[in-house]
Amino acid sequence: MATYGIDLGTTYSCIAYVDETGRPVVLKSAVGEDTTPSVVYFESPENVVVGRQAKDSALLAPHLVVELIKRQMGQDVHYAFHGQDHTPESISALILRELARAAQEQTGEQIRDVVITVPAYFGVLEREATRKAGQIAGLNVLDVLAEPVAAALNYETLGHDGGARHIFIYDLGGGTFDTTVIRIEGDDVLVVCTDGNHHLGGADWDSAIISFLLDGFTEQHPQLDPASDEQFMQDLATSAEQLKKQLSATQTRRYNVRFDGRVVPLEVTREQLEELTSELLERTMEITERTIATAREKGVEHFDDVLLVGGMTITPAIARVLKERFGLEARLQDPHLAVAKGAALFALMQKVQEGMGGATDGPGDGTAGPTDSTTQEVADQLGISEEQVRSIARKRVATVVPRAFGLKVVDSKDPVFATDPHRARHYIVHLLTANTPLPADTGPETFRTVKDDQREVSLEVWEQAGSVASEELEHNTHIGEGVLSELPPRPAGAPFQVVFHMTETGLLKVHGQEADSGREVRFDIQIGGLDEAEVQRATSAVARYEVNG
Ligand code: ADP
Ligand code: MG
Repeated sequence: MATYGIDLGTTYSCIAYVDETGRPVVLKSAVGEDTTPSVVYFESPENVVVGRQAKDSALLAPHLVVELIKRQMGQDVHYAFHGQDHTPESISALILRELARAAQEQTGEQIRDVVITVPAYFGVLEREATRKAGQIAGLNVLDVLAEPVAAALNYETLGHDGGARHIFIYDLGGGTFDTTVIRIEGDDVLVVCTDGNHHLGGADWDSAIISFLLDGFTEQHPQLDPASDEQFMQDLATSAEQLKKQLSATQTRRYNVRFDGRVVPLEVTREQLEELTSELLERTMEITERTIATAREKGVEHFDDVLLVGGMTITPAIARVLKERFGLEARLQDPHLAVAKGAALFALMQKVQEGMGGATDGPGDGTAGPTDSTTQEVADQLGISEEQVRSIARKRVATVVPRAFGLKVVDSKDPVFATDPHRARHYIVHLLTANTPLPADTGPETFRTVKDDQREVSLEVWEQAGSVASEELEHNTHIGEGVLSELPPRPAGAPFQVVFHMTETGLLKVHGQEADSGREVRFDIQIGGLDEAEVQRATSAVARYEVNG
């Protein structure tokens, strides 16, 4: 049985598998396209439409259409359509179901084992929500994988000799922007650092074009207000995206803005588009600069390759400015499809390694090689050659802590603290910083009690929320907690130690201890989001729908 890679994108999704010759191949959508718009239309209580047709229906029934659901992943948001409750997980599950359904139509085989990609900056909550979306769709999620790692896997044949190579990945999609630096050394792939802005993407370029067209129209007809017409605006949005794509290939494009019986013919040039959106491009360049600086701090001075990923990178200005500004020689390779293809390769890696007896314990574990008979068995099972099995079984993908993790502490220097410590300023002390390779250990960090005879301390674990670490509460998310109790009575300022350990798969283990008494507490971070019962409920709700594209 084959394994599949799924790029569950903010605006477009894609599914791929690895064929008998070892090449990743994209499976087409219901309407014969390589990618499927990540749009869900709750047509009736029984029927859900996903993809191109749903995107077009946004015009007719905006209140029954959901777009950009990836932005809500990991958040406690609820929706209701035709009386049925929905969450970001269950809506994402419907997109996954459609991808699997369309894929099955072509392969004739039921899709079960998948790897789903997530942005590198996704934290534990979002990753877990993505895994649950797969589960709700009835899929077996082998793993979730960072999108830039997937793109690098598709690009680079691992196993080169001749030292480490560094790849810079610039990913500008429909709604998100990511930069990542990846190190490839022999068979190992490692994320060196990652940054980005998840509210910056192609949709912002579209908005700039929409304003330009609207202004062009109202200049001629100032008495009319087309912006208040929902249907007109939806149409204009579709046209603006098309214009943008066309201007990647041609220098100029005409467009007739039609409203209320009037027609205003307008011309948009590529140069105008670049001017209208220069501030947006600049924001991606600032993040690029920051990423280059972070990589330099980590000893990476030179990039062997610069990969452009995401549909927006087809825009010629991007490669040009990267070259002018940073001397980066960027390459376009399958910008729409690289992530799904890399995920398919990774899914196969997971299956092979599972078949070979779970040789996934990290590099250089010194165990003897697998026997020839297992190799043959795995090769037969997965429909690939023994040679491929042997080469895949050696590869390793290591990851980093996606974001900083820390503890909430009270600021005893805040004047309010003396009278009312609860109202005093609280802030986050990060123990684990972003981009630390996994598995990671912080070593014991000392904290102190704040009151005399304080018998317990609550260890509140928070995760960095934005792309830059900040100690302010509003820039972090509470993800779990434990209590260190029955402390010996001591004056305020008594020390205790806390250690964070994060496993290779991103599970955070917390250990707090008071040295004198030996009192301790250990807990793993309880991932929020849907619990098992809710996943079950969502699974049966989603399974009842007729889904089509
Ligand atoms: P996602 O953010 O869902 O991962 P993609 O990587 O597929 O999405 O990128 C989608 C974005 O790329 C959309 O904004 C789309 O308009 C844009 N896009 C697709 N093709 C082109 C093109 N030829 N020129 C410019 N932008 C494009
Ligand atoms: Mg993408």
